[in-house]
Amino acid sequence: MSKLQWKLLTKKRESSTKGVPPGKEALAWVTNTVTLIYGQRDAVLVDTFLSAQHSQELVNWVAESGKNLTTIYITHAHGDHFFSLKLLLDRFPNAKAIATASVVNAIRDQIKPEYIRSFWVPRFPGQIPSQLAAPEVLQGDSFYLEGEELKVVELGHTDTSHTTALYVPSIGLVVAGDGVYNNTHLYLAERDDTTIDEWLRALDTIEALRPNAVVTGHGVLDPDSSPRHIGETRRYLRDFAASLASTSTAPELYQKMLSLYPDRVNPGSLWAAAKAAKPS
Ligand SMILES: [Zn+2]
Repeated sequence: MSKLQWKLLTKKRESSTKGVPPGKEALAWVTNTVTLIYGQRDAVLVDTFLSAQHSQELVNWVAESGKNLTTIYITHAHGDHFFSLKLLLDRFPNAKAIATASVVNAIRDQIKPEYIRSFWVPRFPGQIPSQLAAPEVLQGDSFYLEGEELKVVELGHTDTSHTTALYVPSIGLVVAGDGVYNNTHLYLAERDDTTIDEWLRALDTIEALRPNAVVTGHGVLDPDSSPRHIGETRRYLRDFAASLASTSTAPELYQKMLSLYPDRVNPGSLWAAAKAAKPS
């Protein structure tokens, strides 16, 4: 039996999409979930939070685990998954932050001051950590925690380009990053004509690992990490593709998807996707 265990920390925050049509205000929030995988003494953190406040809470949570943080793995280059890095690296100087070369390159672009000022600050005024850091490039496609292998799984374009999951074979765990969502509208604002098929293939890749547990980057406040979210994410993508073809305006597409998914949180994500797909 593997000696590795894992636990989650989930934080609720505002959606990054403002100006959503009226009607779903109660669902206008989103979560981020981070994963701590740990053994007898060492630990690996997968992804981080967005705001300075949540970053501090994350640092405290890792410290309270009593484990020696060796590695922080970042699944993809969206700020809500890596903005805590500088604070973590300052507090845990022995830890190394890593990601694939494509993710590191994209993060270096994302943390340029002009992009932070133009994209993130208007959406989260006063909340973005004042110092940001990029991870280092992981050499190869796996690393180790107390002798157990952790494998990087390339997913291609899911909710952005060059996304990855982290697979821990010894315990059947997939930390899916944003490749799988749980009861949250998918972020499809970066979609183009090929990316839904690419995302569907990514789900097949994850499913083929036959995981016992699948951690989703965005989900409910008390996530069950069930593999069933692979199939539910697949269904949402197919419904989005069909709705895209059967509607002609952004509001029509938005309402069509809301009629199929009335209870998913973060309708702003859907609204952003609808506007990107059908600009008026
Ligand atoms: Zn995300």
